[in-house]
Amino acid sequence: MPVSDGSYKQSSEFDGRVLDAQKLEQLACPVCFGALRLDAPDPQILCIGCKRRYPLIDGIPVLIPERAIAPDAPGRNEPS
Ligand SMILES: [Zn+2]
Repeated sequence: MPVSDGSYKQSSEFDGRVLDAQKLEQLACPVCFGALRLDAPDPQILCIGCKRRYPLIDGIPVLIPERAIAPDAPGRNEPS
């Protein structure tokens, strides 16, 4: 775990469920580099550019293309 030296201490209030929207703005979609936003109520990250959905695990966005849910996926992960 990184040790904070206290010189530039951000209030990192990751409580496992809440993702700071400002932190999200600093990230980009690894596929299209589009902006991301938190998709509520499901804890998922939605890419505004390509509409992919990335899982949010323990408050940490998993921005891995292989883990993303493509908008035009034939529902292989979502039996309906
Ligand atoms: Zn994207």
